[in-house]
Amino acid sequence: MSTARLTINLDALVTNWRNLDALTNCETAAVVKANGYGLDAGRVGKALARAGARNFFVAAAEEGGALRRALGPGPGISVFSGHMEGDAKLLKDFQLTPMLNSLDQMLRHFETLPGHPFGVQLDSGMNRLGMEAGEWAAVAEIALGQNPVLLMSHLACADEPGHGMNARQLHTFRELTDGLDIPRSLAATGGMLLGSDYHFDLCRPGIGLYGGLPFKDALPVVQLNLPVIQVRDMEPGESAGYGNAWVAKRPSRIATVAAGYADGLHRAMGQGGIQVYAGDTPCPVVGRVSMDLITVDVTDLAEVPDMLAILNERQTVDMLADAAGTIGYEILTSSGHRSARTYLG
Ligand SMILES: *Cc1c(COP(=O)(O)O)cnc(C)c1O
Repeated sequence: MSTARLTINLDALVTNWRNLDALTNCETAAVVKANGYGLDAGRVGKALARAGARNFFVAAAEEGGALRRALGPGPGISVFSGHMEGDAKLLKDFQLTPMLNSLDQMLRHFETLPGHPFGVQLDSGMNRLGMEAGEWAAVAEIALGQNPVLLMSHLACADEPGHGMNARQLHTFRELTDGLDIPRSLAATGGMLLGSDYHFDLCRPGIGLYGGLPFKDALPVVQLNLPVIQVRDMEPGESAGYGNAWVAKRPSRIATVAAGYADGLHRAMGQGGIQVYAGDTPCPVVGRVSMDLITVDVTDLAEVPDMLAILNERQTVDMLADAAGTIGYEILTSSGHRSARTYLG
């Protein structure tokens, strides 16, 4: 078998959820959009529901339908993109709660699904999703008359605790929602770490559950092991891979390993000085990342194992992300489409 092996530790995921939950005095939900950040929303959702999570968030109604099938009735499932044209049947059949983002969505919702639970997403300055202050002022009375289950907004710069945007958005969110006596939510992972002012009634962590920054204390959740297909000896001056990008400076042993940019090992990592691990021993990835393969300098290993690890306790999704000039979120959501998966816990 020449596909990568992705191991997902659901016990570590649950521990991350519990540790985030312990930071606040409010409810901790879980964001499982993009198929649970690539790790399988159903498996992730079931593990967290068993641990006590009562509310889940997805990006689109379609994702909510798949999650409801996995979770069964009971847990709340909310949809960030709100109530889009054509969503009514999905929202109703799978008991999904849209976070309404505009007057248009609100009218659509009240018309097609009167009495169906909803929340409202407010824009506190990110200018991405949600009603702006003027729009909210115009419809708040009507919306509040229909008993929204949540008023929420999202922080643009929560991963930078010192950024002035955080306090500005907090202030705006409070102006829009103080005194309304409806449950409120502002914080994702980053916001949870900004302190209790940001917690309100419910927090919505995503990346921290899956082991990513800005939750520095997160346990790693994913391991990615790559099979070695072939090992060869090279003379000084010989080159490996596309574009002759790497040239041996000494007699070298090169392992060809089964994963490439189609497996989420971004091609830009080739310039980033990343390693793969033989047990605890790091070995540099050399040459270009190709679609299905990378080449690794294993000259200093006494013995080349069958598998080399590219994600493990030592090398996190954020370290791989740095090497590729991206963020842990993108590494998670782009890894593992072709891998054989094992779930622990
Ligand atoms: C993705 C998302 C989250 C979760 O964010 P993390 O940074 O992954 O914790 C929360 N709320 C909204 C609106 C989101 O889009």
